[in-house]
Amino acid sequence: MKKAVFPGSFDPITLGHLDIIKRSLPLFDEIVIAIGINAKKNYMFSIEERKKFIQNSFFAEEKIIVETYSGLTVDYCKTIQADFILRGLRNPADFEFEKAIAQTNRKLSGIETVFLLTSADTSFISSSIVRDIIRNGGDASSLIPDAVSNAMNP
Ligand code: ADP
Repeated sequence: MKKAVFPGSFDPITLGHLDIIKRSLPLFDEIVIAIGINAKKNYMFSIEERKKFIQNSFFAEEKIIVETYSGLTVDYCKTIQADFILRGLRNPADFEFEKAIAQTNRKLSGIETVFLLTSADTSFISSSIVRDIIRNGGDASSLIPDAVSNAMNP
């Protein structure tokens, strides 16, 4: 079984993440969207909120599981017997950052990282810009899944 972990902060999940996840569905039998818990990071949304946003975005998709984890991503992959890490690439900065992590992860564990290039219409979207819009009272609904907008404005 081809099982991939898509690790990230998802603070919150955006249409950019959604695009990567949807396009990876034909490639894997199971995709674990794994929300990393990093005690040093300040998040806008709680772990429960971030998990709910993702679950609501994919409630009908049987291949997708949403989990949380702490510690090294490769250790988490081994625990759940996933052979692949999924990541998205938006720009050269993402590439440089991801290259070192992917090479290190393969050295440490043999786990391959599979990269999908962002779609042209979602390449500019980032969780940090979405957070800025929300923090300043703007409307981020064109950048995030409906399940997230609806949960924020019930
Ligand atoms: P992290 O803190 O691990 O970078 P993020 O939630 O910001 O967590 O991102 C998780 C993954 O989603 C990363 O691989 C990132 O490159 C990818 N990603 C984020 N936004 C987009 C986008 N608009 N298009 C493609 N990939 C994206």
